[in-house]
Amino acid sequence: MKNFDIIVVGGGHAGIEAVYVAARLGVSVILFNINNDTIGQMSCNPAIGGLAKGHLVKEIDALGGIMPRTADETGIQFRLLNTSKGPAVRGTRVQCDKQSYRLKMKHFLESIPNISIMQSMVEKLIIENNCVRGVIDEVGTEFYAEKVILTTGTFLNGLIHIGRKKISAGRAGEFASEKLAENLKQLGFKVGRMKTGTPPRLRKSSIDFSIMEEQKGDEFIVPFSCKTDMENFAPEQMSCYITYTNDEIHSFMRNNIKLSPLYSGDIKGKSARYCPSLEDKIMKFPEKNRHQVTLEPEGRETEEIYAKGLGNSFPFEYQEKIIRRVKGLENAEIMRPAYAIEYDYIEPTELQPTLETKKIKGLYFAGQINGTSGYEEAAAQGLWAGINASLSLKGESPFLPDRSQCYMAVMVDDLITKGTKEPYRMFTSRAEYRLILREDNADMRLSEIGFKLGIVDQEQYERMLYKKAKTEELINKLKKIKIISNTRNQKYLKMKNTSIKESVTAFQLLKRPEITIEDIFQLTDNITPFDYHINKQAEIIVKYEGYIKRENENIKRFKQLEHKKIPDDFDYNIIPGLSNEIKEKLNAVKPLTLGQASRISGITPAAITVIAIYLKKWRDIKKKGVLE
Ligand code: FAD
Repeated sequence: MKNFDIIVVGGGHAGIEAVYVAARLGVSVILFNINNDTIGQMSCNPAIGGLAKGHLVKEIDALGGIMPRTADETGIQFRLLNTSKGPAVRGTRVQCDKQSYRLKMKHFLESIPNISIMQSMVEKLIIENNCVRGVIDEVGTEFYAEKVILTTGTFLNGLIHIGRKKISAGRAGEFASEKLAENLKQLGFKVGRMKTGTPPRLRKSSIDFSIMEEQKGDEFIVPFSCKTDMENFAPEQMSCYITYTNDEIHSFMRNNIKLSPLYSGDIKGKSARYCPSLEDKIMKFPEKNRHQVTLEPEGRETEEIYAKGLGNSFPFEYQEKIIRRVKGLENAEIMRPAYAIEYDYIEPTELQPTLETKKIKGLYFAGQINGTSGYEEAAAQGLWAGINASLSLKGESPFLPDRSQCYMAVMVDDLITKGTKEPYRMFTSRAEYRLILREDNADMRLSEIGFKLGIVDQEQYERMLYKKAKTEELINKLKKIKIISNTRNQKYLKMKNTSIKESVTAFQLLKRPEITIEDIFQLTDNITPFDYHINKQAEIIVKYEGYIKRENENIKRFKQLEHKKIPDDFDYNIIPGLSNEIKEKLNAVKPLTLGQASRISGITPAAITVIAIYLKKWRDIKKKGVLE
């Protein structure tokens, strides 16, 4: 009962993917959580995915993870965001029934024999000779494992702020993890402080939705997971409602701004610029006279409504005054107040690319503990750390895709190479090769790797191969089949604001922005449609052919630097002409490749050229023991 291959501390989004993938890789694993009823709990908004985050979820799906399936199973509203923009930046967002999501996750993990689950707070790591050996929990019991993955989220020294009131907690109503935080400091990890926050939850029956704008889900639903049977997928959807703040609220908040711990100086942790709380918005963008508030149901069987956009840390009585000045919320009852929370994170440059710490062998960190924010970012890291810890146990090579292969790799590389000073969330702009790293082809990018690792099953792998083969078949057909310039087709094309003088191949016609693959099927009987995913895949590849080709060429150049490995014992100090600052940075990060070195902030192209020269000479230098 007390010996495992892997111990995972934390049953949030990172911990869940970590234990599940470890179990699929056949190792024995135990999941610790402070309270088992919060396994899979969504701390804040009741939704999975969104811009760039949707990409991560699709990648988790391509590697056989559980987040996408559970989001589909518990989804109450499905939307594809950014549809007016190119395919690279479209993102799936699924609003979920929060409680069902949590319960499904817990039950799912319970159904897997080689996952043990233990409700207990871990307080200390057992370390011998810089190797982790296990953990000690709050009742003093020792549990042993060769690998420990910490996924403790916002719980390390968590401190909630509501006005002047401070409550030690990992989330509202949950204990903070203080002893483990202390232990990590004692072990010498570089610890920082961050801040996030959550809006109030309001009682549905107290809201006047009739004067708000309704936001419905998509009529045509594309689920997250390839395992979800799309043909028969028709969940009943719930609407969200949009209202706005106003000048009166802004003046009220500005006049009382010192009551917010964010502006009184009480909160020291760094918050995310991209996700400001309401007091931050009104102080930083004074020219705006209103901010959007979206009211999102938290589930089918609850009255709780998540008031997105009203996040703040004012005292409760002031929160009430702010909320009741919003149109439609004049009589709103608060069921849970908004709050801000500060917590410890570990500087992620302390990690190797596998997410194993540099300091202690066998110890991995994943999720919000690494300075990230978001369920999807956490889940992707949990999967990454879980795979690598399991592969390391088996003596196999690590799972280290690069930035041209997936968003997960972009995130891990950013974290370990540059670190982060504010909560890190994924954006499509972080990926250099985003035209290649699309949601729609995540399976084609990753499922083969997953299948070889043994984390993607035969059925999923074959489905991906089928999609690949049929997409090619469809593209070849599009190249061969001509769209005839006859009266029927001219009439159809006129409706689409275009025309053809003479017959053209379907491939050429599809390149026009106003033409979709569905139009092509209308214009000829000689091409039979496949399923949605294959048709869309072919459409995107045809439309963006030129850009994709160019991006693939850029990837080739990127790989050249990425393939230039820097040996572990390479000594930057011997290189003349490198400034002390540059040497310090290189020694701190210890990049594995010349490519990674080039992404460390402050490392100049000139420095990379010099390092490349000395890399070539390194073997000789070592042999002779001198620099000539
Ligand atoms: P968590 O989901 O936090 O899970 C950590 C788990 O570890 C918990 O279940 C806890 O019980 C367990 N645990 C901790 N310490 C121990 C221990 N010592 N022993 C045993 N178990 C332990 N993200 C956004 O993207 N947008 C937002 O607007 C947003 N707002 C947020 C607001 C609040 C108030 C909070 C708390 C979080 C918010 N987040 C937001 C962040 C989001 O919730 C996290 O990024 C995500 O949940 C992190 O997942 P995780 O798996 O790393 O940790």
